[in-house]
Amino acid sequence: MSIFWNKRTAALSPYVPGEQPGSRKFIKLNTNENPYPPSPRAAAAIEQILAEQKPGESRGGVLRLYPDPLCGEFRTAAAAAHGVKPEQVFPGNGSDEVLAFAFGAFFESGEKAGGPLLFPDITYSFYPVYAGLWDIPYKTPPLRDDFSIALEDYTGPSRGVIIANPNAPTGRVLPPESLRRLAETLEERRQVLILDEAYVSFGAESLDLRIKDHPNLLVVHTLSKSAALAGLRIGYAIGNEALIEGLFRVRDSFNSYTMDRLALAGGTAAISDGAYYRDINKKVIATRERTAAALKDLGFTVIPSAANFLFTRPPEGTGGAGFFQALRNRGILVRRFATPRIADYLRVSIGTDEDMDAFLEACRSLIVHSLHEDHRRRGF
Ligand code: PMP
Repeated sequence: MSIFWNKRTAALSPYVPGEQPGSRKFIKLNTNENPYPPSPRAAAAIEQILAEQKPGESRGGVLRLYPDPLCGEFRTAAAAAHGVKPEQVFPGNGSDEVLAFAFGAFFESGEKAGGPLLFPDITYSFYPVYAGLWDIPYKTPPLRDDFSIALEDYTGPSRGVIIANPNAPTGRVLPPESLRRLAETLEERRQVLILDEAYVSFGAESLDLRIKDHPNLLVVHTLSKSAALAGLRIGYAIGNEALIEGLFRVRDSFNSYTMDRLALAGGTAAISDGAYYRDINKKVIATRERTAAALKDLGFTVIPSAANFLFTRPPEGTGGAGFFQALRNRGILVRRFATPRIADYLRVSIGTDEDMDAFLEACRSLIVHSLHEDHRRRGF
């Protein structure tokens, strides 16, 4: 708290990202990064720009120049990757920024503007933060007991809907046809449906091509997970030209250069190398399935996942908080949300096969340890 904060700043409830550890070496399974390196073409494109920076030359290289505010090359490459037009792509500094702009561009603020914005009670925890930032009232229909989204809860009065598919942190996926029908229902009411497809490349079907049929559908992607480029901060929305123009209006009321030249060059090269990513993501999917099976064998509850993480509950008696801390003590970072319904669950990002072997080994020994403790307490 500070007397210098205005009321808006004082009222914010900012998002808290997963831990990025300092010097201690962890097996890092807590922020859904891809364990494999990005396309070599991305690094080469960045290196080329850096090589052009000749020290001592007054006009060497392009870094002294502002980047292209329209991000033409990146949008052309992203459009080609998705089979849409460049005018139907809006790039940003991570999909977090794209989502922040989208909330501001498409969802009305203030109590009087009609029904609330709708998103599930258990989903990406940045959504309520954006709603708070823009003063958008919202309601959070509960997931079913099996953590699936009950889409019938999203067809009533609202000022728009945002759904992550696959959902985070559960990893559960919805059939594309039911999402398409929801887009249709909302279109009749002149409301926007944002589909956050951050994890779609790990086993779900994108609705990217459906933007042609639904002028109210905004599909949001990121290069952080599927393209292994979380460090470059690149996300983008795909939607009808008028939605994209709305996003540019908001962006250009903040900062016209949200994407720097290195990110644009690396991102353009990366998004054009689809074969490379399909290959590494196939490996992530195979490791996920193997890890899920091994966790079930250990007595964990495992929610079916189409993402690059598993949402899982350790066997009875071990407890989410204790298990999280015990893993951390053994050098393994996972994510836990201390919120209703899911406090005993852990979200475990899929690492390399070796990472997951170490994780499974730690789980095995913690369960044995907790059984011993239990027996000791009961006097066996
Ligand atoms: N959407 C979801 C569902 C996410 O889990 C994340 C990652 N935290 C993002 C969007 C944001 O990803 P980024 O800003 O790295 O593109």
